[in-house]
Amino acid sequence: MNAAALTYRVVPSSHARSAEQRAAILAGELGFGKYFSDHMVAIQWDKTQGWHDATVCAYGPLSLDPSASVLHYGQEIFEGIKAYRHADGSIWTFRPEANGARLQRSAARLALPQLPVAEFVESLRQLVAIDHAWVPSAPESSLYFRPFMIATEAFLGVRAAQAAGYYVIASPAGAYFAKGVAPVSIWLSEDYARAAKGGTGAAKCGGNYAASLLPQQEAQAHGCSQVLFLDPVEGKYLEELGGMNVFLVFKDGRIVTPALSGSILEGITRSSILQLARDRGLAVEERQVAIDEWKQGVASGEITEVFACGTAAVVTPIGELKGKDFAVGDIHAPAGEVTMSIRKELTDIQYGRLPDRHGWLVRLR
Ligand SMILES: *Cc1c(COP(=O)(O)O)cnc(C)c1O
Repeated sequence: MNAAALTYRVVPSSHARSAEQRAAILAGELGFGKYFSDHMVAIQWDKTQGWHDATVCAYGPLSLDPSASVLHYGQEIFEGIKAYRHADGSIWTFRPEANGARLQRSAARLALPQLPVAEFVESLRQLVAIDHAWVPSAPESSLYFRPFMIATEAFLGVRAAQAAGYYVIASPAGAYFAKGVAPVSIWLSEDYARAAKGGTGAAKCGGNYAASLLPQQEAQAHGCSQVLFLDPVEGKYLEELGGMNVFLVFKDGRIVTPALSGSILEGITRSSILQLARDRGLAVEERQVAIDEWKQGVASGEITEVFACGTAAVVTPIGELKGKDFAVGDIHAPAGEVTMSIRKELTDIQYGRLPDRHGWLVRLR
């Protein structure tokens, strides 16, 4: 990996919270995405200068021309990655080069400029250098980074913007399951897809989320916490949830996840779990999984566990799948053993409680 080349101008916030205010926030219910640290990173890009004007500045509103193309044509991408505080106080992140590379792939698909991977990693380091005290230390807590890129050019013509901004904000996050990991109900979206063949499903862009919000409301109206989307061509095969990948555990020990189809977002948690499963000597399959295989497998006992995974919640057991005219699984059954042991192994690596045998951790401070 090439070294980061941008020089940052650091302008400390004039209204940063006091140590007492920060401690009060970190000691309370953090939830997810509710509180933000005092600073943010901003880097500008335009067609003539390339990446320039890297700054660490006070967290606060952006100033955008009302004709900025992000506001009209949705030219936006983002990432999600965490900083973990280890027992000795050091601060680490997990596979940041993978997130940086994915941001580049998303940028390519959305016709945005590619930020070098080394600059992506450096942007996290710069934010932690000034806001390290915002990395919480309670069990399973973290500082969640939200890097994102928007098209900022003031121009209503429909073409790739010639100016963009890259930003990183950071939000202290509590344990996702504050009351212990509990299985969730999932709603099968039969009327809507989140992505199309040839579309942007494999890119991490806001537009995919916009398309998932109505089905998400439908899920909630049916007492479910998340939506499961099927493939957009035949409407037969599992793709993923609105923001998490999905795994099935079979009675014979096989671990199965939908193969990347071009419309599935390639999760870094997904790829890490595949590696951990292979390390355990489990048979791992990345292939098409028909929704009927899930329904029948759970009903027959062939499939013993189902779980979802992503950076925010790590691993979420799925207790029940519901659709318009069916329900399979038992929401009251305890979370599966394989699910919970993979969850534990992954978080133990992230928090430095197990050796990092794949070199996934990168020290930020
Ligand atoms: C971010 C995301 C995931 C999970 O990716 P991780 O890298 O594991 O956090 C899965 N699906 C979608 C649609 C996503 O946006």
